[in-house]
Amino acid sequence: MTADHIDLATQWRRHLHQIPGTEFDVAEAADFVARTCTDLGWEVTTGIGGSGLVASLTRGTSPRTIALRADMDGLPIEERTGVPYSSKNVGAMHACGHDGHMAMVLGAASVLAKDISFDGTVRLFFQPAEEPGTGAEAMIADGLFDRFPTDEVYGLHNIPGLPAGEVHTCPGPLMAAEDNFEIRIAGRGGHASAPQHVIDPMVVGAEVVLSLQTIVARSVDPLDSVVVSCTELTTDGARNAIPDQVVIRGDARTFTDADSALVETRIREIAEGAALAHRASSEVIYTRVFRPTINDADCVAYAAAAAESSLGTDKVDAVCRPITASEDFAAYARAVPACFAFLGAGEITDGGAAGGGNVGSGTVGGGTAPLHSRDFDFNDAILGAGIDFYTALVTARLPEGNRS
Ligand SMILES: [Zn+2]
Ligand SMILES: [Zn+2]
Repeated sequence: MTADHIDLATQWRRHLHQIPGTEFDVAEAADFVARTCTDLGWEVTTGIGGSGLVASLTRGTSPRTIALRADMDGLPIEERTGVPYSSKNVGAMHACGHDGHMAMVLGAASVLAKDISFDGTVRLFFQPAEEPGTGAEAMIADGLFDRFPTDEVYGLHNIPGLPAGEVHTCPGPLMAAEDNFEIRIAGRGGHASAPQHVIDPMVVGAEVVLSLQTIVARSVDPLDSVVVSCTELTTDGARNAIPDQVVIRGDARTFTDADSALVETRIREIAEGAALAHRASSEVIYTRVFRPTINDADCVAYAAAAAESSLGTDKVDAVCRPITASEDFAAYARAVPACFAFLGAGEITDGGAAGGGNVGSGTVGGGTAPLHSRDFDFNDAILGAGIDFYTALVTARLPEGNRS
């Protein structure tokens, strides 16, 4: 790949960095992406699942189709990087590097349109609302795969803390599901000095919080990974008044649908049982936000081969450890064979207003602040690796002279 493509992708990335939106409100980025793809000769369809868009480019006659996916949303965080191309949109910033994800796919769009031959159709999925976990599903519900048939989908996420430019992935579960729960314990409040007249929901709530930790310890297969975290406990009590109600909120991570179902069942049983034991009552609201990201084994093999050929065998780990964070890419992987992979962004730096992020230093290994930090800035030094990986993948999956 020529330096021109990287220069262009760097300019695009820094422009996108300045115009972040959040959730489905990403019109500025979507407009820029649509315009850029159209200028490069791609056929663009906008307004899919709200602000999502698809760009397609067909060469030759093969019916085979692969998709590269980028997320477009930033986060409701006030930027503190101090870089000259900082966010112009108050209260929003690209703190997860989705500006870099768009730039890598746009960079690949540029190379594929100008310099690379392939036989088949490449699609680019640009989705809103990755952070809340609802954008991919919105595009799929809007007929994404009916309107744009696709054989395989691939995506990358930059990961501070992994060596810059390395690709890590694994077959099967790569990232966890995220479920949220709310447990309402209803008692009968009263004077703190007269417990004989009340049904104290605090005592029940405290028991529930501790008992929830037995789900992982006593109910889940010890060879599975599950996290159950209580994150909020609120009451309507006062210093000298026992409350009527306690609300416990929390977050559970699992890697299989069966474990997600098990966690829900046990939470309901524990809440109901503890309430019953103390003459209180309970209600549980359990919601599934993200599904687990499950990679197709064949797609992982194709992605690993493309990464090895484009980046070097020492830059690829195709059997990496899964992580308990969650990713909206999961929705595509439930619909068609897919592979999601981590792209190393280099060492995690301290960040800080003065010397945060990589400040566009452009040196491989420059590193970044952690994801979702006010000091985070995508490491432009890894743009080339992402573009090379994507273009190698397309040429391997849509080879010329293979019409089978
Ligand atoms: Zn994020
Ligand atoms: Zn992200």
